[in-house]
Amino acid sequence: MSPRPRPEILTIAPYVGGVSKLPGHSHPLKLSSNEGAFGVPPGVLATLHAVMAEAYRYPDGSSAELRAALGRFFDLDPAQIVCGAGSDDIIYQLCLAYGGAGTELIMTAHGFAIYEIAGIYAGSKVIRVPERNLTTDVDAILAAVTQRTTLVFIANPNNPTGSMIDKTEVERLRQGLPADVLLVLDAAYAEYVDRADYDAGIDLVSRTDNTVMTRTFSKIFGMGGLRLGWCFAPPGVTDVLNRVRGPFNCSVPALAAGVAALAEPGWIERSRAHNTQWRAWTAGEFRRLGLKVWPSEANFLLVDFGTPERAKAADVNLRSQGVIVRGVASYGLPQCLRVTIGTEDECRAVVAAMARFVDQAGG
Ligand SMILES: *Cc1c(COP(=O)(O)O)cnc(C)c1O
Repeated sequence: MSPRPRPEILTIAPYVGGVSKLPGHSHPLKLSSNEGAFGVPPGVLATLHAVMAEAYRYPDGSSAELRAALGRFFDLDPAQIVCGAGSDDIIYQLCLAYGGAGTELIMTAHGFAIYEIAGIYAGSKVIRVPERNLTTDVDAILAAVTQRTTLVFIANPNNPTGSMIDKTEVERLRQGLPADVLLVLDAAYAEYVDRADYDAGIDLVSRTDNTVMTRTFSKIFGMGGLRLGWCFAPPGVTDVLNRVRGPFNCSVPALAAGVAALAEPGWIERSRAHNTQWRAWTAGEFRRLGLKVWPSEANFLLVDFGTPERAKAADVNLRSQGVIVRGVASYGLPQCLRVTIGTEDECRAVVAAMARFVDQAGG
């Protein structure tokens, strides 16, 4: 007999990230992982070089300096912040601590894949509820709640759909959920939203003892490779996370980089303005090519090709041109491809490549 995991573990489909290499293309255009358009902020790069000699030391396990910096930046109590090796780390810890055998986790039909992986890993039953127009449906979530529900996850805005719900809807969701259900608002793309009716969750977390907001340095801050995320949570939840998380879950370079990223002048504003401009331009150009593009509040577009075959053909064709976008069949969207908003040159290049595909495919 060989060692066996719990049976549900083998029902987990391993997470498949965006492809980064293309045979025959030494410098492919990678628009498959929603990494920020501008790479690593210069101040972060300088800090990384400076801090490397300290890498033989264990990091500060309490991430105190970074939590203090986040507290100043977002006007939050640092005691209510927990940092992790990416927000994925926080999501796993929440699932393991609040889920488990006999409990249910609710997520939406096209919600972020990690909730399901971490939920099953924890032993929870993962319930996916329908969306409306590829958008979180609060009523569908509330209708799915049972006595066994302990966790509800929504990404707002969601990946890979790009859709969001406004603060009134988030509030209605919280009001409708039982008090003992932990609501997790994954705001990985918060910085990109420019709608006035959006709230990442800070206000709700401050007012309740059962809501958590997760954030990441992987997207607008261009630090996906460093693995750094955090959450703002009520004291009861931070207490739990601080008991169960890895004691040194954030590395020396990641912690220093996080502090430097927050100090980078104008980085968020410049990145958001760029994204707003080039997301609109790219969506407009795709639509001019006759493609359906879903509205997006994030740094990517969900392009709808109508059929899985046509989406697949587009994916293959783009790759042959050295352009990598993200297939989202595993998200129940086989007819779509997700395209990250890159630099101006990258946006122009993906539109030109898409135009060649549409030309060749005869519209
Ligand atoms: C990218 C992403 C994350 C962030 O993951 P990290 O582990 O912080 O890199 C979290 N949630 C969603 C919805 C994402 O798209």
